[in-house]
Amino acid sequence: MATELKVQHVTENSFDIARQQLRAACEALNLPSGVYEILKEPARVYVVSIPVKMDSGEVKTFIGYRAQHTDVTGPTKGGIRFHPNVTLDEVKALSMWMTMKCNLVGLPYGGGKGGVVVNPKKLSQRELEQLSRGYIRAIVDAIGPDRDIPAPDVYTNAQVMGWMMDEYSKLAGCCSPGVITGKPLAVGGSLGRNEATARGCVFTVREAAAKLGLDLSQATAIIQGFGNAGSVAARLLNELGVTIVGVSDSQGAVYNPAGLDPYALAEHKAATGSVKGFAGGTDVDGDGLLEMPCDILVPAALENVITAGNAERIQARIVAEAANGPTTPEADEILFRRGVTVIPDILANAGGVTVSYFEWVQNRMHFYWTEEEVNQRLERMMVEAFCKTYEMSREKQVNMRLAAYMVSLDRIAKAMAARGWI
Ligand code: NAD
Repeated sequence: MATELKVQHVTENSFDIARQQLRAACEALNLPSGVYEILKEPARVYVVSIPVKMDSGEVKTFIGYRAQHTDVTGPTKGGIRFHPNVTLDEVKALSMWMTMKCNLVGLPYGGGKGGVVVNPKKLSQRELEQLSRGYIRAIVDAIGPDRDIPAPDVYTNAQVMGWMMDEYSKLAGCCSPGVITGKPLAVGGSLGRNEATARGCVFTVREAAAKLGLDLSQATAIIQGFGNAGSVAARLLNELGVTIVGVSDSQGAVYNPAGLDPYALAEHKAATGSVKGFAGGTDVDGDGLLEMPCDILVPAALENVITAGNAERIQARIVAEAANGPTTPEADEILFRRGVTVIPDILANAGGVTVSYFEWVQNRMHFYWTEEEVNQRLERMMVEAFCKTYEMSREKQVNMRLAAYMVSLDRIAKAMAARGWI
């Protein structure tokens, strides 16, 4: 694994952006003021310190966060991110976006999110396991299958979820697979979970392309980020006939107008730690890649990468936000004005939490579905969420992001009213 991680300097505050989006949707729906008042802050936030005995024998302390945005529609749900740039505001924003996402798809959850300030690429496997277990010990009272259910996010994976589920189960005194999703199959993971975020994203791209009359077999795509979401999106788009012309990761980017083979690229990344240096393409600048010609742009890395600074130069017809928060509000307006269809994060990447929900349901029933069943149910829910969002955007003449928030907030406001909160 590569040890160098390019640290992205995020200038925009994601939590301010999330609040702006929330306020705009509350106003557009003319909701009682109590809805914004309750949702503008997470209901609970935990800040913990996690001491880890490193391989050298020295003890190092890492800072971890968990935000539970609202449980108005069910237990809170959301991933855990290990990244050196994690901040409390970022985790709060991500927890709010999870609330919006779960309710857009109609899942019985509120939003949550966690993060640890760490560069996991600099840890040994043993240190990573100790950190993962330490994080769970620190927040054990805050989580549970009916309380708050974590999942993977940037730089955490099924193995990390397996360690976390084990630590929680030991502390709870019983095997508790439903406390966390995205687990390895051997301990109650769901078939299809690994591919779910990208698969859901590709369903929304397919629907958007049909609305725009874009023939996917003639279309090209650029993907930023080649991790769980990005690498699988490349493969699935390729299966639909889309030519993948550019891909980047934290170390660099490759481009080939004739097409990159996503399988060979994945092998190259597994062998070298990066997409750069891939023989089937030419190395290019990662930031510049976003502005190169393509029909479909899939940001699948981190926040705030499409900004007022580059939105005018984006050439894609569809931006499918596999990542959370990749587009700033200013950039959103520019893209909308230029007629670019943005499939917003809370819709485009909702496949991950949807199959996490399926995993949780299967854990609770102790009855497991085939991959085909998982994918069919996922497709149905993603297409329904896309259609509701698209219809709202048409009816109210607003962009897809605002429309998605409106669909979601309508559900949340009804739940608040039913519980007597507003
Ligand atoms: P991951 O850790 O598997 O992959 C992240 C990828 O982004 C890596 O390839 C990394 O090299 C790349 N990257 C990091 N900084 C970059 C930069 N500056 N430029 C280009 N590439 C960069 O993470 P993931 O799970 O694929 O998550 C990616 C995004 O998708 C995040 O925004 C995450 O919140 C979102 N998401 C993931 C899931 C999921 O189920 N995994 C679900 C919903 C949303």
